[in-house]
Amino acid sequence: MKKIGITFFVVIIFIMAVLIGYYVFTLNKIKDENEKLIELSEKGKESEEKILEITNENKIEDVKQVNSSSDKVSPNGILILKKYYKDCKHTINDYSQIPEELVNLTEKDVLEYYKDWELKGFSPNEIVLYKEVNGSCNEHYIVKEKDGFIAIYTVDDNGKEILKEKTKISTEYLTQTDLIKIKDGIRANGREELNAVLEDFE
Ligand SMILES: [Zn+2]
Repeated sequence: MKKIGITFFVVIIFIMAVLIGYYVFTLNKIKDENEKLIELSEKGKESEEKILEITNENKIEDVKQVNSSSDKVSPNGILILKKYYKDCKHTINDYSQIPEELVNLTEKDVLEYYKDWELKGFSPNEIVLYKEVNGSCNEHYIVKEKDGFIAIYTVDDNGKEILKEKTKISTEYLTQTDLIKIKDGIRANGREELNAVLEDFE
């Protein structure tokens, strides 16, 4: 009877050991599988990101290619000629409509057309060219008061002021600061700057 009892006990222990062993084994397996799944999904994300990156790069490349190869000058664009005068060190900008002969030309064609100019900007709607030239820009102005009105003087290379034009802008309503400025005379180089100065008083 005792022997049967011990055998029974051993069998029970054995079965329990097997059950526990199996339980631990399955737990580990589930854990492993979960880890593998997480790893896989992370890899999936990485490759998705890579694909996105590649497609974005392609898009940028496409845009670049459109810009560089097929851009042609539009008839509605503007041409900006920037001339730097070495003597007075002024840059005078000249704005004009795109000349007919440039319409539909590419960047390369335009450069060939303006051989002694430097191309500073090119888009279908705006061409910017730059050139350094000898001499003075001869567009040195001084804005001053004359008989109660604002007047424009040109200044020659010797510094001599010559009355160019008396405007209809009265100095009567100018602020104290503007009056002081106008008494001293405001210097402007090039039409662009001159217009900006005059606009401030209008
Ligand atoms: Zn100048």
